[in-house]
Amino acid sequence: MTDPIRLAQLLFPNVTQTPGQLMEQSFPPRPLKEGAQVTRFAPSPTGFLHIGGVFSAMVSERVAHTTGGVAILRIEDTDKKREVEGGVSLIVQGLRDFGIVFDEGAQGEHEEIGAYGPYTQSRRAEYYHVFCKDLVEKGLAYPCFCTADELDELRKKQESENVTPGYWGEYALWRDKPIEEVEAALAAGKPYVMRLRSPGKPGGRVKFKDAIRGEIEMEENYVDVVLLKSDGIPTYHFAHVVDDTLMRVTQVVRGDEWIASAPIHLQLFWLCGLKAPKYAHISPIMKEEDGSKRKLSKRKDPEAAVSYFTEEGYPADAVMEYLLTIGNSNFEDWRRQNKDARYTEFPFKLNKMSASGALFDLNKLQSVSAEVISRLTAEEVYAQATAWAGRFDPDFCALLTRDPAFTKRLFAIDRGGKKPRKDIVRWQDVKAYAAYFFDELFAMEEQLDMECEVQKQVIEAYLPVMDCGDDKDTWFGKMKELCPALGFSPDVKAYKANPEQFKGHVGDVSAVVRMAITGRKNTPDLHAIMALLGQDTCRRRLQAYLAGLNG
Ligand code: GLU
Repeated sequence: MTDPIRLAQLLFPNVTQTPGQLMEQSFPPRPLKEGAQVTRFAPSPTGFLHIGGVFSAMVSERVAHTTGGVAILRIEDTDKKREVEGGVSLIVQGLRDFGIVFDEGAQGEHEEIGAYGPYTQSRRAEYYHVFCKDLVEKGLAYPCFCTADELDELRKKQESENVTPGYWGEYALWRDKPIEEVEAALAAGKPYVMRLRSPGKPGGRVKFKDAIRGEIEMEENYVDVVLLKSDGIPTYHFAHVVDDTLMRVTQVVRGDEWIASAPIHLQLFWLCGLKAPKYAHISPIMKEEDGSKRKLSKRKDPEAAVSYFTEEGYPADAVMEYLLTIGNSNFEDWRRQNKDARYTEFPFKLNKMSASGALFDLNKLQSVSAEVISRLTAEEVYAQATAWAGRFDPDFCALLTRDPAFTKRLFAIDRGGKKPRKDIVRWQDVKAYAAYFFDELFAMEEQLDMECEVQKQVIEAYLPVMDCGDDKDTWFGKMKELCPALGFSPDVKAYKANPEQFKGHVGDVSAVVRMAITGRKNTPDLHAIMALLGQDTCRRRLQAYLAGLNG
């Protein structure tokens, strides 16, 4: 290539700006305080949001927001083959469902916010061309008109010569073509790609520091990689360099499958005269199967799709907290010490992430979720449970919202104390949890292991004294008062000292009442349940139970 300036003009006649001008005029440094990180989550709109993507998104967003920086959502739609209609909305909505909020970038299928956009790669062609022209002018990029057949031949030749296949060094056919030939090819309208003129050598080394893995040393890049495809759209490598530069990204968080191409990226930043961002390569979420680990698979594992968590009814905060336990091993300690804090207050740190893939553990997710739900107020439970039911179980939603005050009181039972119950693991469980509060769902789900005759006596004795308006002490006092005549001990200790003298103790008496009213052996506070259900319902259920015992 004899005249790079002429070549650049020939290839990019419409590009008038230089990267420097562009950066100064349109994408100036961001006014941020020291230590603030600018991060981005950069998914491709493939129509599927993987839980690993949410994990990545969360890490990026946390790093930005815990340092007082900026989180960007960039849409990488340069691969039109993988793109799916509505794919952007799916990502935006999917992340929003989990409370992951970005300061800049895609907001919907075609909406964006922020001053460093556009944030969708297909709308950024002019910027890639500015940077590519600059490289051509510096003699660091050139057009390559090779056809697929020619590249195939090249590969075969390299295989027969036993050299590493690829478009590099002396095998880079268009690297040093005279400009006349390039002009002729252009004039003939031949399709071409733009390639980097890599100064790297086989065996050369490159080192970089990864925020999670520490120092990584690899072979440097020596391939004349494609920068722009024949349609002028950039490859991932070039788009990464241009976009993260113009968006002033300081910390790249991405999947570890990109480590292999980091030498290309570092070389590109260097040749463009740019400062590379810091990198953090995160490991994929793994699944244990038959004693060995494998990546969570979109095909095999329902829990790979984020829709799974929404449909099952895991609260967004529970999924986030679970992902934080995977992300930073000190999260759980922090949670124990900061019971009332929102997870967003946790100081997430990249250098506390593990370099080996975390295992997806459903049991752990469930225990985190039960814990998260147990900390919610009755109002919050009401809001989230009805929102879930509205989407996934409309009939049940109608029951829950028929009398909101009633439903909120139901959720308030045994909530808010030092040791809240953890019966609800996900919103799906609410129906089972609350069934007996609704006549439509009430059923005898269990049976008491006690003679029918004895149970009958208990109910018969209790019915005339029952008053759902009693306070708790009065209510319990009445249970105790029934005991002697029925042959039960009002005092559990006394019973335990001489069990042979009694049919049971006061707890067994109330167990009969509990069974009649709720159809279950275990429930939250029975007094509160009865107070909420009210006199009519309780009487009706006691009578029906009695009828059942008689029948
Ligand atoms: N679009 C790329 C992907 O989905 C993004 C990688 C990156 O974050 O740089 O893998």
